[in-house]
Amino acid sequence: MEDLERWELRHGDGRRLFVYGTYAGEGLPQDAPGGAWPALHLRHDALNDQWVAISPARNTRPQSAPIGATAAPSCPLCVGGPELPFAYEAAVFENRFPTLLEEPPEPPRLEGPTAPSRGRCEVVLYTPTHTGSLATLTARELARVIAIWTDRSAELWDVPEHRVVLVFENRGEDVGATLSHPHGQIYALDRLPVYLQIRMDALVQHRNTHGTCLSCEVVRRDLTATERRVRDNASFTVGVPFAPDWPFELHVRARRHGVRRLTDLTIDERRDLAGALREVVRIYDQLFDEPLAYLMACQQAPADLAGRPADDWHLSFEFLPPNRAPNKLKVRATVETAAGLFINDTVPEASAAQLAAVSTVAEGAEVASIPDVDVVPVPGLVGVTDT
Ligand SMILES: [Zn+2]
Ligand SMILES: [Zn+2]
Repeated sequence: MEDLERWELRHGDGRRLFVYGTYAGEGLPQDAPGGAWPALHLRHDALNDQWVAISPARNTRPQSAPIGATAAPSCPLCVGGPELPFAYEAAVFENRFPTLLEEPPEPPRLEGPTAPSRGRCEVVLYTPTHTGSLATLTARELARVIAIWTDRSAELWDVPEHRVVLVFENRGEDVGATLSHPHGQIYALDRLPVYLQIRMDALVQHRNTHGTCLSCEVVRRDLTATERRVRDNASFTVGVPFAPDWPFELHVRARRHGVRRLTDLTIDERRDLAGALREVVRIYDQLFDEPLAYLMACQQAPADLAGRPADDWHLSFEFLPPNRAPNKLKVRATVETAAGLFINDTVPEASAAQLAAVSTVAEGAEVASIPDVDVVPVPGLVGVTDT
């Protein structure tokens, strides 16, 4: 199998840039001032017992309108833009407008508990082509994206402070994506946000009560419920979950016990993951007249307090589209937001039937194998400054 080469560079402001695939040795401009984020910090919401990230600098981030060209002059992610001034195949860079930093500023002393915003915020560029999606990337590009997610996850999990590595994608203006160029993001967090803590607790409680894996039980139930199946394959269930929040929610979940993170996947499972993700997005592209917006979360096992991946977690990719019908968005309104009770306007089995009935046409080759990443030492680390 062909390896995927990775080169690590630094922007002038100190941010890392990982170039994957071909790299001709170009440097990066070194005159940019370093980012300053004095207001970045976490605050503890005492009544809800959860942390809120305060990140006002994000309000200044750019926006590029979606257009049909292969390169958009105003797009910061296209070749020649501020992030990638030279030609690239795929890349990851540290977010210019981060919520979390490897070395965050000291949090302010206030009347309630505060904490540093420690972690990482990275942006993953799937392709240099300005338009497209996980459904339309070439087989080689899609294989590369999965290899990159796996490579970055492995490195971020190696940092002992990181308890969560969340690979995700916000697609479409309806979910607030400010850039239309095909890309995703990765956040590493040093604490468990409340939804992930709830999942961890459910797994532990089930194990203590029944002595078995709750995720295996969910996979078993899902496989039994043929009316909710959409496109299962040998390694993943692909269907509408039993109790979805969103009308057209789809989950891709690892069937094998022990697949807790991307790094646990076998060669065959990685290939099946590519096929499943591509198929889900193809369905979303054809369900209505135009591509469905969605949130996509890759749920990998968080680290427990000892730093080990949580037992009984199965890797999943969860797609959350806001639409309930063409041109009709479900709003996360008062009951959902203030009380946490989601009201789904559809019957999950009916949504599954609608999704399963979408006939997708395979365009081009399917992914044959996912490359391993080979880190190439950069002589003198091109563009690295001493600071
Ligand atoms: Zn672009
Ligand atoms: Zn299991």
